[in-house]
Amino acid sequence: MRVILMGPPGSGKGTQATSIASNLGVDAVSSGDLFRDNQRRDTELGRLARSYMERGAYVPDEVTIKMVMDWISNPAHSAGFVLDGFPRTHAQAEALDAEMKALGGVDRVIFIKVSEDELIRRLTGRQICRDCQTPYHIHFSPSKTEGKCDNCGGELYQRDDDKADVVTTRIQVYNQETEPVVDYYRQAGILREVDGEQDVGDVGKAMNAAIGG
Ligand SMILES: [Zn+2]
Repeated sequence: MRVILMGPPGSGKGTQATSIASNLGVDAVSSGDLFRDNQRRDTELGRLARSYMERGAYVPDEVTIKMVMDWISNPAHSAGFVLDGFPRTHAQAEALDAEMKALGGVDRVIFIKVSEDELIRRLTGRQICRDCQTPYHIHFSPSKTEGKCDNCGGELYQRDDDKADVVTTRIQVYNQETEPVVDYYRQAGILREVDGEQDVGDVGKAMNAAIGG
């Protein structure tokens, strides 16, 4: 089973990728994992990727695709895999398809759908203690006293990355990039959408059903 898992930041995609991979008895991988692995092993692709990152430039799709295809072609992944958050653009999806034709292509693409309001609620609720770095969430795991750390009484703050304007921009960029990818797989007839606003267990069940059906 060859599965691609897509979902916006805050959709719980990473958790679900690990869980469906273990249900299917295959490995899950993200492009971030592949960058780190290639750099750690100091491969030619890893060095190439680093040369772009050091200049503050985006790693070109062809480099990322090669890393993905290297990983997919490994005999350890011949039974299938879960690609977590890749491809992210239409160009990457087309390139991946062309490369994967010989293997019979991708079986299923699952898109975890969560409304923008809910994503903002989840992503802007994070707080961290200034002194001991304990994480909190104003909705899911609030501190006993507002703004104060339960452990050390330190002040809780919101990271710049979690502020509403930054989060909103991230979600909009994600939507703009991935809408054409979702359409592409919908037209291919292999896209299944899962409601990501249910509780985690129900999302998992819906995903298993989507993979089977
Ligand atoms: Zn603290």
